[in-house]
Amino acid sequence: MDSARHDVIVIGGGPSGSTAATLLAQKGYRVLLLEKERFPRFCIGESLMPETYWPLRRLGLLPKLRASHFPRKYSVQFVSASGRESQPFYFFQTNPHESSVTWQVLRAEFDLLLVENAAEHGVEVRQETLVTEVLFEGGRACGVRMSGKGGGEEVADARVIIDATGRSALLARRLDLRRPDPHLKKAAVFAHYENAVRDTGIDEGATLVLYTRDNLGWFWYIPLPRNVVSVGVVSSPSTLFEGRPGDPASVLEAEVELCPAVCARLAPARRISPVHVLSDFSFRTRRWAGNGWVLIGDSFGFLDPIYSSGVLLALKSGEFAADSVDEAIQAADLSADRLGAFGPKLSAGIEAIRKLVYAFYTPTFSFGQFVKKHPDQRKNLVDILVGDVFKEEVHGIFELMGQYCDLPKPLE
Ligand SMILES: Cc1cc2nc3c(=O)[nH]c(=O)nc-3n(C[C@H](O)[C@H](O)[C@H](O)COP(=O)(O)OP(=O)(O)OC[C@H]3O[C@@H](n4cnc5c(N)ncnc54)[C@H](O)[C@@H]3O)c2cc1C
Repeated sequence: MDSARHDVIVIGGGPSGSTAATLLAQKGYRVLLLEKERFPRFCIGESLMPETYWPLRRLGLLPKLRASHFPRKYSVQFVSASGRESQPFYFFQTNPHESSVTWQVLRAEFDLLLVENAAEHGVEVRQETLVTEVLFEGGRACGVRMSGKGGGEEVADARVIIDATGRSALLARRLDLRRPDPHLKKAAVFAHYENAVRDTGIDEGATLVLYTRDNLGWFWYIPLPRNVVSVGVVSSPSTLFEGRPGDPASVLEAEVELCPAVCARLAPARRISPVHVLSDFSFRTRRWAGNGWVLIGDSFGFLDPIYSSGVLLALKSGEFAADSVDEAIQAADLSADRLGAFGPKLSAGIEAIRKLVYAFYTPTFSFGQFVKKHPDQRKNLVDILVGDVFKEEVHGIFELMGQYCDLPKPLE
């Protein structure tokens, strides 16, 4: 199969796929990226974590982001069910570096920027091309079957196939590798609003996390360009949907009513998008690589969105996978072990964030009280919250935290 026209085929042009494709093209590989939609397209996931700075720098995208109209995100602020506001949590207070300020992005524009960057680096990008099947030969992935806008089927071969298809997880579903996270069965209902109340100064771009009545759920409130705010509620499907009219707009309106702090902020606002619903999104895969293939981004696994970790994990997994694939091709060893060598490091980082997600959903646990009792753990906590999770030290916090809440074991 060394006669393959492409070295690598990447399926999916979201942040994970564009990152892997760009970095492999930078290394001189012939890369084909296949995306079923025509960009720009809507995607949820608008708030970045500060640590996205480093992969974005490696992609050469910082100048474009600095010049963009995306609001700067300096902090996160929590608002209790009674409306009490915490102090904004400014990332630069623990690390006064440019990387501590990040962006709230319109994903349609952000993802377009990434995919155009891939094309500028020599990736062959084909949009409106749906991959219907990954092809195997002797147990090794060797190509894909796809259909373009005109509907005709086509086959392309490559030495390595990277599945970056997001939560649709083409290969993981086909190979039955997905395991849901049993304690994170949540749903989200969300929309864009114009003319909602925004804070001012450096707080204008802050992410707000606001609890609903009885702490049964929480809202994100993410300021975007053009006076738009992204608003969404996350809770159990039964809380959101049982005993309510079926249409998503009514569900969102009812939840807004249950959260006075969001209600006040939306009073002057007008909804300018359809209301979207997503449910049961947290899962992991039993394997992330096989002979000739790897999974990255959401198709590798997806975590509850409370800490806005999805795009960071997409960018980092694209980066890690590009390096592993490069080393595997150099060594002429396209086995699962070699291609998936990045997996344990990525999984360890995801587990750190996952434990913090479990702590967040433990009603008796308070991060404020934990840090008061254990001030020496503040740095580890902050490191996880900004996404600096791919290092051994951060895991030191969990022995202590486990005394206050049930933390999960890695999914088997
Ligand atoms: C409710 C909710 C809120 C979130 N909020 C945040 C947030 O605030 N911050 C954050 O960082 N993350 C957030 N996320 C997570 C974020 O959306 C994802 O983690 C991120 O988009 C993952 O990137 P990706 O490249 O893996 O997948 P995606 O961005 O989903 O990209 C996958 C791409 O693959 C394409 N594709 C799929 N199947 C095929 C196929 N068969 N053939 C060709 N192309 C295909 C799709 O069209 C898509 O463009 C949120 C997620 C949810 C559900």
